[in-house]
Amino acid sequence: MEDNIFLKIIRKEIPADIVYEDEEILAFRDIHPIAPVHILIIPKKSIESIARMETEDVPLIGKMFLVARGIARDLNISEKGYKLLIRVGKDGGQEVPHLHLHLLGGARLSENIHPVK
Ligand code: AMP
Repeated sequence: MEDNIFLKIIRKEIPADIVYEDEEILAFRDIHPIAPVHILIIPKKSIESIARMETEDVPLIGKMFLVARGIARDLNISEKGYKLLIRVGKDGGQEVPHLHLHLLGGARLSENIHPVK
């Protein structure tokens, strides 16, 4: 069976600092934050990446963005703004093969999307 660290978090086999959970979605603090607020929003359904999403996943992935908006409001970063980021595959820098949406905020964030030299 395919397995990865986020599936283990979903199954509560390893701990996470969970900020939101429902039957379809889990959100928790990134273990290595790169911003004052750094939350990962993931579907409980096993979807490797956006490259592997199916048409039937559109409502679920849309809901991930609604959850991100709600968390941003709850954490009082909505007014000043935030960044939502999804990495896809190797060149996109995706490390964990389970779809995740990064919610980044709490400070003005730089752009850093230059090719790796
Ligand atoms: P990505 O590079 O987009 O695949 O992001 C993976 C993210 O998962 C990184 O920001 C890691 O810091 C984060 N991460 C890895 N393991 C854990 C964990 N056990 N709990 C919380 N965040 C994690």
